[in-house]
Amino acid sequence: MSSLQCEKCGSDDVININLTMEDGDPVAFYSCHGCENRWWNRSGEPLPLARVLELARRAKGAKKA
Ligand SMILES: [Zn+2]
Repeated sequence: MSSLQCEKCGSDDVININLTMEDGDPVAFYSCHGCENRWWNRSGEPLPLARVLELARRAKGAKKA
């Protein structure tokens, strides 16, 4: 039984990778094998790609500083 399902094509052939941002935020990444749809989730809420990039950039900067 899989709770993962692609919203775009309905396929349940979805992989889930859980990541932790450098600032400690747990983020889940999903990728659909059916249609190559990809999306992110944080604390059960959809996370726009722009926000993910922002977090990643900030984490990178914080590491350098
Ligand atoms: Zn899909």
